Amino acid sequence: MPLSEFSLIQRFFTQQPVRNASTSLGIGDDCALLSLPDGYELAVTTDTMVENVHFFAGADPEQLGHKLLAVNLSDLASMGAKPVSVTLALTLPRVNENWLTAFSKGFLGLAKRYSVDLIGGDTTSGPLTLTVQAMGLVPKGKALLRSSALPGDFIYLTGSLGEAGLGLKIIQGYHCENPGTALQRFHQPNPQVEAGLALTGIANACIDVSDGLAGDLGHILEQSNVGACLDWEALPLSDVVLAYINETNDWSMPLTAGDDYELCFTVSPEKAAQLTINCTKIGVIESTPGLRLQKSGIIQPLTSKGYEHFS
Ligand code: ADP
Ligand code: MG
Repeated sequence: MPLSEFSLIQRFFTQQPVRNASTSLGIGDDCALLSLPDGYELAVTTDTMVENVHFFAGADPEQLGHKLLAVNLSDLASMGAKPVSVTLALTLPRVNENWLTAFSKGFLGLAKRYSVDLIGGDTTSGPLTLTVQAMGLVPKGKALLRSSALPGDFIYLTGSLGEAGLGLKIIQGYHCENPGTALQRFHQPNPQVEAGLALTGIANACIDVSDGLAGDLGHILEQSNVGACLDWEALPLSDVVLAYINETNDWSMPLTAGDDYELCFTVSPEKAAQLTINCTKIGVIESTPGLRLQKSGIIQPLTSKGYEHFS
């Protein structure tokens, strides 16, 4: 390797000064040190992206750096945690300086936006594999769980649904006259950090939509022992997603496609007026288990794979 492991880390990953108050010691020793303010818990999550599994070989490294961090910050957001720091484990087939420059630009650019410190990691050689562990702070007992939705809660979604899914369809060959922001939404999702923070003390349950709304809301339903009915007409679908549905009749795509990284959360009707963030009410939590969809006046069962026909 033209660069030693240590000079590689120095060159590409230590440009940013420590900026988060929780970082007592950053990169350079055997461990980093975090100081936690009184009254807070540390939220910890990790996500790995493997070439040819989570991204295509030859994917734009700057977008990859952004997305790798974004998917981890999205997990913190869905718990209502404020991101403070991350570690980065890089397995690289070779040292490609252009690739590393672009990757660290995408990664550290998003980190800077949220004052997140990169406090350590590991660098090894092997098939391209990218792992982040992200840490965030949440007031004790206030984390937004999957397990605390209650019958009668309204179900809300930040942003809009299905654009990232449409972006993936386009990459896979679907011809779209006017893709709008669909490709951008797929390649560079924005974690809903501010929304997550604004939801603590208001939402009962929350999850980020990484694998598709039907499946991810399904996790809330299972862990909370409840069911839900979604209102098709209420789903926030952008013009490009509506145009896709009109052309293909594939109306379940926005319910089953992943990568949106919006937050889906439940709020009791009494607290709904306290919501200050941009979001759309898309359904209601019910005591009968299972997920249902009301579409054209008919209520049908819905699985994580989409529509489930009456047998
Ligand atoms: P060790 O042998 O103790 O694991 P390393 O030589 O792997 O130490 O790492 C030296 C320092 O650089 C450590 O502080 C480690 O956390 C940090 N580090 C290693 N790889 C990365 C990386 N990809 N990004 C950020 N920090 C890293
Ligand atoms: Mg190491």
